[in-house]
Amino acid sequence: MKTVVYPGSFDPVTKGHLDIIERTAQLFDKLIVVVLINPAKKAIFSVEERVEYIRRITGDFVNVSVDCYDGLLVDYVKSKGASAVVKGLRAMSDFENEFQMALTNKHLYPDMETLFLNTSSEYMFLSSSMVRQLASFGGDISPFIPEEIAEDVATRLAKAT
Ligand code: ADP
Repeated sequence: MKTVVYPGSFDPVTKGHLDIIERTAQLFDKLIVVVLINPAKKAIFSVEERVEYIRRITGDFVNVSVDCYDGLLVDYVKSKGASAVVKGLRAMSDFENEFQMALTNKHLYPDMETLFLNTSSEYMFLSSSMVRQLASFGGDISPFIPEEIAEDVATRLAKAT
């Protein structure tokens, strides 16, 4: 049984994240999407909200589960018996940081692989921070957020700004 972990902030989860989830779920027996709690990154959505949104959009995938964690990624991966983490790559700007992180994680836990999945071209420009910024100026975020949660995310962001 091959398990892979997809970590991130998901503040909030976007269609770009969902695309990575869908494509990764087809390659592995089991995929765990984990909301990493990073005190250095001030999130708009609570961890519970972020987990709940991801659960709602992945309800139809039998091999996907959602979790949260507030420690080191490699410790989480070990505890789940997973063999790899997957990261989405949008542009060269993602690469430098992700590459550094992948090498650090390899050092910490040599049995774990980091896999990079390129973004689908239509989501190349999409990030959670872009969605938050757009909402703060009253823009329509619905093209960028999975349909099942778009209204709730928009309402919630409108309250936050
Ligand atoms: P962001 O705020 O940049 O969306 P996250 O921490 O939520 O960041 O991202 C989690 C993972 O998803 C990272 O590996 C990131 O590169 C990837 N990701 C985010 N947006 C996209 C996208 N539009 N296409 C592909 N991968 C993405």
